[in-house]
Amino acid sequence: MAFIVTDNCIRCKYTDCVEVCPVDCFYEGPNFLAINPDECIDCALCEPECPANAIFSEDELPEDQEVFVELNQELSLVWPNITERKDPLADAAKWDGVEDKLEHLER
Ligand code: SF4
Ligand code: SF4
Repeated sequence: MAFIVTDNCIRCKYTDCVEVCPVDCFYEGPNFLAINPDECIDCALCEPECPANAIFSEDELPEDQEVFVELNQELSLVWPNITERKDPLADAAKWDGVEDKLEHLER
């Protein structure tokens, strides 16, 4: 079991989540963050930190977000680790809450 970053992180990437992770298992792409499921210890600290409510426990994952289980696994293996908060993307507020942003995911 792990925590999963989902659709609403895309184009927001506030990065508040990375500061609290005790095992530094967040990985950063151009406009999305991924959690490495093999490193995540299921502590739940990151979930309430996300201003975009984009982080879910795998067992509470909404059905339409299932695709993100594999995406977190896949992308966390190729992207660099991120452990410190940085400024969100310039138009993060505009994209927060927009549905189905998967087509905007940059790799
Ligand atoms: S805090 Fe939420 S929106 Fe920001 S990078 Fe983490 S998961 Fe993405
Ligand atoms: S649940 Fe804990 S270990 Fe897993 S990504 Fe969130 S803060 Fe890190």
